[in-house]
Amino acid sequence: MAIVKVDVSNLESNPQCTHGPTLKFTRLVCDKRVTFYACSAYRDRKDCPFYLLEDEKFTETKTLRWEAAKNDMIEKYDRDFLFNNFNNILKVSPTDRFYCYDCNLLSFISFIDRHKNHHLFVGVIKNELLKFPTKILKPLEKNKKEAQYWFTDRSVHLIILYLKRLKIKNVLCLGTPSIHEKCRGTFFKSILLDIDPRYFNFYSKDEFFWFNMFNFHFMNDHADSLDKIKRFVGGAGTAVVVDPPFGARYEGLAYTLKKLSEYNDKLTYILILPFYMEPHVRDMGLDLEKLDYSVDYINHRFKNNKTPVRLFTNADQSAFPHGEASMKFCWECERAVPFDDIHCLKCDSCHNENYHRCDKCSRCLKKSYFHCADCNSCVNRNHVCPNKRCRVYIKTKNKKVKR
Ligand code: SAH
Ligand code: ZN
Ligand code: ZN
Ligand code: ZN
Repeated sequence: MAIVKVDVSNLESNPQCTHGPTLKFTRLVCDKRVTFYACSAYRDRKDCPFYLLEDEKFTETKTLRWEAAKNDMIEKYDRDFLFNNFNNILKVSPTDRFYCYDCNLLSFISFIDRHKNHHLFVGVIKNELLKFPTKILKPLEKNKKEAQYWFTDRSVHLIILYLKRLKIKNVLCLGTPSIHEKCRGTFFKSILLDIDPRYFNFYSKDEFFWFNMFNFHFMNDHADSLDKIKRFVGGAGTAVVVDPPFGARYEGLAYTLKKLSEYNDKLTYILILPFYMEPHVRDMGLDLEKLDYSVDYINHRFKNNKTPVRLFTNADQSAFPHGEASMKFCWECERAVPFDDIHCLKCDSCHNENYHRCDKCSRCLKKSYFHCADCNSCVNRNHVCPNKRCRVYIKTKNKKVKR
């Protein structure tokens, strides 16, 4: 029942769920094509139950019902109240503040009685910490929803250094709150666009926009917000830094990025995705090339601890500060390699100290490999030798084989 097509033409006139215009999906059900409208942002029907077949009528009752649901959702986050609240919070001592994870609200100790049995962040909340909401908020890790995975400090540092070297002045952070919080208050101007309204607790409505990146929809005052973003993006030296949920279909994101390019045809893009998404990035038609730097995250564990995530950009890649990362450029290999690697003259490639040379095989291999005399080749630890003759191989609990 895989989705075979996502149609984003005439997106504005599609029926709307609480997250703005829906997308038109087509999928195959028993060799029959079924076309329907569903939420662009949340991919689990439990999170956004909108579903309408193409030839079904979006009745007035339904329209009104969804509109009411949308208004309810928006009213839960009163931007003016929250920003005012934030400014008042700044006036009290760091020990007189707390954040409630149940109410998604920054508040005063004097109100703590209202949050009995709620899950709270209490203690000392210094002004400095308030500048870094991602250090206070708990990431919403549901993959079919927000999929919030924070960059490590190192990745943030390098991306920002790269922006500096590219002489970027304005940074539009699209689903990249960690980049935004590091950019603000420096010589960059930065704006955050994200589907997570909790940021209204920390930022003004000119700094944070509640936005859906899969249909280019602003939740509050669409026209006014659009106007502000147009002006911001239109300035010279503007970059968009976007780190979308990985499991999403990218047609909607491509729609948004193309919209942005209408306001500035010299826009720099930094799109962060796993390397295997390269064909989809090509399909976006934005001339983005993969940059050989591995982006890592605090709360994301990848297989073998190796992150497949890369930057895709239309900017000058030689400006990337590899040397300052854990990466460096190897002239022999002619590519960026991990900083601790050494270029091995025996195998003419770069590898780290976890490799050793097997002279019998004339190869460099991970130290977890050993040369099995019976097989006459290098094999890994779990090797149970099919050629064993009189040797005794003992498999221990942790699967190590006695050589
Ligand atoms: N690594 C980034 C965060 C990326 S996680 C960082 O450290 O800054 C994905 C981000 O996209 C989250 O901030 C999430 O809230 C946001 N997001 C998820 N779905 C979205 C949507 N439909 N529209 C806009 N933002 C979305
Ligand atoms: Zn929805
Ligand atoms: Zn509460
Ligand atoms: Zn070697």
